[in-house]
Amino acid sequence: MAAEHFDVLIVGAGLSGIGAAYHLQSKLPQKTYAILEGRHGIGGTWDLFRYPGIRSDSDMYTLGYSFKPWPGAKAIADGPSIRTYVRETAAENGIDKHIRYGHRIVAADWSGKDARWTVTAETQSGRVRLTCNFLMMCTGYYRYEAGYTPEFRGREKFKGTVIHPQFWPEDLDYSNKRVVVIGSGATAVTIVPEMAKTAKHVTMLQRSPTYCVSRPSEDKIAQRLRKMLPAKWAYGLTRWKNVLLQMYFYGRARKRPQATRELLTKMVQQELGPDYDVGTHFNPRYNPWEQRMCLVPDSDLFKEIKSGHASVVTDTIDTFTETGIRLTSGNELPADIIVTATGLDLVFLGGTEVSVDGKRVELPKLLTYKGMMYQGVPNLVSIFGYTNASWTLKCDLTCEYACRVMARMDKLGAKSATPTVSDAAIKQVPWLDFSSGYVQRSIDRFPKQGEAKPWRLNQNYALDVLMLRYGKLNDPELVFS
Ligand SMILES: Cc1cc2nc3c(=O)[nH]c(=O)nc-3n(C[C@H](O)[C@H](O)[C@H](O)COP(=O)(O)OP(=O)(O)OC[C@H]3O[C@@H](n4cnc5c(N)ncnc54)[C@H](O)[C@@H]3O)c2cc1C
Repeated sequence: MAAEHFDVLIVGAGLSGIGAAYHLQSKLPQKTYAILEGRHGIGGTWDLFRYPGIRSDSDMYTLGYSFKPWPGAKAIADGPSIRTYVRETAAENGIDKHIRYGHRIVAADWSGKDARWTVTAETQSGRVRLTCNFLMMCTGYYRYEAGYTPEFRGREKFKGTVIHPQFWPEDLDYSNKRVVVIGSGATAVTIVPEMAKTAKHVTMLQRSPTYCVSRPSEDKIAQRLRKMLPAKWAYGLTRWKNVLLQMYFYGRARKRPQATRELLTKMVQQELGPDYDVGTHFNPRYNPWEQRMCLVPDSDLFKEIKSGHASVVTDTIDTFTETGIRLTSGNELPADIIVTATGLDLVFLGGTEVSVDGKRVELPKLLTYKGMMYQGVPNLVSIFGYTNASWTLKCDLTCEYACRVMARMDKLGAKSATPTVSDAAIKQVPWLDFSSGYVQRSIDRFPKQGEAKPWRLNQNYALDVLMLRYGKLNDPELVFS
């Protein structure tokens, strides 16, 4: 039986997949498309993660779509509100009718002769194949099946409960319990103050500190603009305000790391009082923005530390014991529940095996074109957000660019658009220059970027607007044929 065919297949029904469908059907309404989603719901990250306090750590004026003003009063939103926003976007625009749930893509094979992709999906009733002319991979950046947990000596001895935040048990009762949260990233910084509201005590156990910055969860300027202007204008202005502020702070941090470090640690000292040991617990080994910073909305973490409901311990784990954790310093942390907020396991293109004309594509050997296509791989775009700003900013631009490429193919009567490197000597550098453990652990599985345009990742929204929204498409390194 011939495989079902679409002009475009979108893989993933998270924030990016729903955004991609919106751009596609509004800019190229004649194209047929389907969304293939491995799970049984919309929302990706915002549907999977259910730990206490789950929220964004960037503002919703930039994490929201360019085309749908964020309706909530809070700029820092909780997970369920973001899930509802994504679902609403899908329902309002009829996108949900195009989703095929329970389709986990395992392979995508390009045939130059037919100028189409054959996509293989695993479903409950076995493998199915679909074909398309253009593939948009909106699969996020981490493994859904498992989080990252290092080996902890003596783990089997511990008599209490061990939980990874990626799989939070719905019925977990932690009231009046002693909790240790291992980790110092955004997840730990979110979970600790939330659990501290009802637990007996919550300890955030970190090997090394992270930069933490307190910000109000509500944006007063945005609220004022909303009262004065139509929703779309107010949203657009707030979005640009936040983009520019973020670019300014990021640029300043990278140019003047020592001054920024002093400012950030001083701010924490003011929050926690003069006697608190900020040098040990909130002064990282790395410079600001070499890793993502942690947001502390309305100082929630600092308030719980001050009240004594939560504390931070900076030490390493020697072993789990029957009753908690023994540290290298010899100290013991008693626990009823241990939360391993130790991170994600990064994966590229949702683990899909890609081949071009029967030859397996080794992504880590390839350069990325404009941060979305891959050297020698035709008609495939993937969505990957910024490390120093909201994911959706890049997602929107990538979708717009993909639509421009498809429109140009139609205009030229071309069947394929293939990124092609003209300078064989171009130097390859890692995809991300973050020093975070989760990036360093898996960066070898990711494609590379080049040192020069168009093979270089900008990590800069303003530059990307110029390149992706307004830049010319007749680039000799994107071959239409
Ligand atoms: C806890 C947490 C908080 C975050 N907070 C922020 C934040 O505040 N700001 C920010 O900018 N970013 C944040 N991020 C990054 C976040 O993942 C992005 O903002 C955004 O949600 C990514 O959307 P996505 O649709 O690209 O990917 P995802 O949300 O990961 O969705 C991918 C979808 O693709 C599906 N899929 C994956 N592989 C396959 C396959 N092989 N076949 C079929 N379907 C597949 C998945 O099931 C999923 O539904 C956060 C991430 C996490 C984990």
